[in-house]
Amino acid sequence: MHCPFCKNEDTRVVDSRVADEGQAIRRRRSCSECGRRFTTVESAVLAVVKRNGVTEPFSREKVMLGVRRACQGRQVDEDSLRQLAQQVEDSVRASGSAEIPSNEVGLAILQPLRELDEVAYLRFASVYRSFESVEDFQREIDDLRALPSRAANAHATVGSAAEGVDRP
Ligand SMILES: [Zn+2]
Repeated sequence: MHCPFCKNEDTRVVDSRVADEGQAIRRRRSCSECGRRFTTVESAVLAVVKRNGVTEPFSREKVMLGVRRACQGRQVDEDSLRQLAQQVEDSVRASGSAEIPSNEVGLAILQPLRELDEVAYLRFASVYRSFESVEDFQREIDDLRALPSRAANAHATVGSAAEGVDRP
């Protein structure tokens, strides 16, 4: 690859090390023309296999897009979304395979989203798991409440959602 500073095509690798727990190789390169150094990262392309069999590269942006929709009207900032997308990527990459079915990406979103915002989680889960009745929601809510550490949080969420309704 060419030097990003002077565009000279002759660069050499001066150092090479495994990064991200073996998922990437980081190379330190030196330009023979201008002498400047830069780093490249090499990692396997993670492909998502859609239900119709078509594959596309995994995209954190797409994860954020789907989750952002579920978070509409909620107090979830972009940093949290970015962090969640990173968590999702880490967990699908951790499976070690180069191709991931799209439904596994959905599954990987559910857990961190549940910790981020319970209302957004319910919305996302209702679409993703095709909730068909109030009972499906009830079961999921009971499940959320059954977690002792998050029970207080669930009440706070319901409270603030109700306040939101009253506001003009
Ligand atoms: Zn150069």
